[in-house]
Amino acid sequence: MPFTATVLTLYPEMFPGPLGVSLAGRALREGLWSLEPVQIRDFATDKHRSVDHTPAGGGAGMVMRADVIAAALDSVPSGRPVLAMTPRGAPLTQERVRALAAGEGVTILCGRFEGIDERLFEGREIEQVSIGDYILSGGEMAALTLLDACIRLLPGVMGAASSGMDESFETGLLEYPQYTRPAIWEGRTIPEVLRSGDHARIEAWRRAQAETDTRLRRPDLWERHEGARVHSPSGAQRRNRNDKS
Ligand code: SAH
Repeated sequence: MPFTATVLTLYPEMFPGPLGVSLAGRALREGLWSLEPVQIRDFATDKHRSVDHTPAGGGAGMVMRADVIAAALDSVPSGRPVLAMTPRGAPLTQERVRALAAGEGVTILCGRFEGIDERLFEGREIEQVSIGDYILSGGEMAALTLLDACIRLLPGVMGAASSGMDESFETGLLEYPQYTRPAIWEGRTIPEVLRSGDHARIEAWRRAQAETDTRLRRPDLWERHEGARVHSPSGAQRRNRNDKS
């Protein structure tokens, strides 16, 4: 069975959307992953097929009903992790993406309106995931983002490139800056070291750039990276060796 993404949504027509083109689209057509959008509204029970209602306690907007979503969820084969996209969830990380991509697939629940009745999260095993500290109008774009990150890691989708452990976050650092042709653009040259053919120097330069950029742009990542280095035994050894040289 290929990696299977079941997406519960009020807008199944948004899928595969951007995942139907380029690498993910080709992989979908080749059967390297499969997609099953589920229309939540099909599980509504009243004659108006309602999926939402006004918030208990008052306030703006509408809230998605736990009973309707639970019925939709219970119709999906179990065994794969169930994720709900919500700004109240744990921030998505490359580490979590890797773990998900190594599994059999995911079931993703996309919210709309003001969100979902909290009792759903008490009554079902659901991992709440956020893609960042901003508010989208619905969970569909967040689901597409999560799936894109997973799919590029599936075997055969990207070839060698996807195993690149240099990439931003894989090492706990941002990636070093990249350059390509032309050799001179608007008077700007490519750093000399990258044209030297000296692989050891290139690697050292890239490492230094990755560290500087991470420190300046993402002090939060840098602090975690430095902390891990200082506290792990192998990190401490690496450090000592660097100090001596
Ligand atoms: N009132 C809610 C936001 C609702 S936004 C709150 O303040 O927490 C509507 C839906 O969009 C959410 O149910 C969720 O599925 C999706 N969504 C919005 N922002 C998101 C984010 N940063 N990450 C993941 N999903 C998000």
